[in-house]
Amino acid sequence: MKLGGRVALVTGASRGIGKAVAETLAAAGARVVVNYVQREEEAQRVVEGIRQAGGEAIARGADVSKAQEAQELVDFTVQHYGGIDILVNNAGITRDSLLVRMREEDWDRVLAVNLKGAFLTSRAAARYMIKARWGRIINLSSVVGLYGNAGQANYAAAKAGLVGFTKALAKELGSRQITVNAVAPGFILTEMTAALPEEAQQELLRRCALGRFGRPEEVAALVAFLASEEAAYLTGQVIGIDGGLSL
Ligand code: NAD
Repeated sequence: MKLGGRVALVTGASRGIGKAVAETLAAAGARVVVNYVQREEEAQRVVEGIRQAGGEAIARGADVSKAQEAQELVDFTVQHYGGIDILVNNAGITRDSLLVRMREEDWDRVLAVNLKGAFLTSRAAARYMIKARWGRIINLSSVVGLYGNAGQANYAAAKAGLVGFTKALAKELGSRQITVNAVAPGFILTEMTAALPEEAQQELLRRCALGRFGRPEEVAALVAFLASEEAAYLTGQVIGIDGGLSL
């Protein structure tokens, strides 16, 4: 995919899937803002890696669940690179527990980062994309948002919320040639999934048609396609990338 001349903002890009997305978009020619919330050093390393590979990137801290910080992050992208063409809402957290033990603050925080964060950055970015009459918004949902998972009611609700959000935005912004899609990964090897007990991992492997976990780069390749000119007629879709886990 060629993304030369495009500007991308990837939230939560200091590690995991976000890092792979930032690297892949940059390798395709996009100038990339690598957002992080706490780990500035890791984000700087991602930026260094992109620059050493001949790409262009800059790190910027912001908690996407806070309205002012999300707005400033998008404004920074536009001021620094002259626009915002691609927004990847990747920032996400889990705070797992069974429903009867779930604390209200864990519900609120997971919804705030995974769902409200996407709303805040998309609202800010869409204002620029509408003027430019071109845009790509890609939301990181999950198989858990489509099929549920015991112990993840908050996360499942947030990721399912992103599906409705994606479809509503696709209808609202389509006339301006802004496409909005979601990807729904299965089990991808990152820090988020490393915490899962061995037994649960083996059960997931057993259910996965491909018999292995996914790599962040594999999700990033799909995101890069959705961000490309070639995907111009694809909007409002939720694309599973789960090695057949959901079959
Ligand atoms: P990760 O924990 O490795 O990375 C998450 C990133 O989000 C980190 O860079 C973190 O700093 C950032 N982040 C957290 N809170 C933030 C905030 N308030 N503001 C800005 N950034 C914030 O997780 P990952 O596995 O790379 O997941 C990336 C996305 O993909 C998440 O939305 C996750 O829910 C989704 N996802 C992951 C999997 C998987 O198997 N790993 C499966 C389905 C969906």
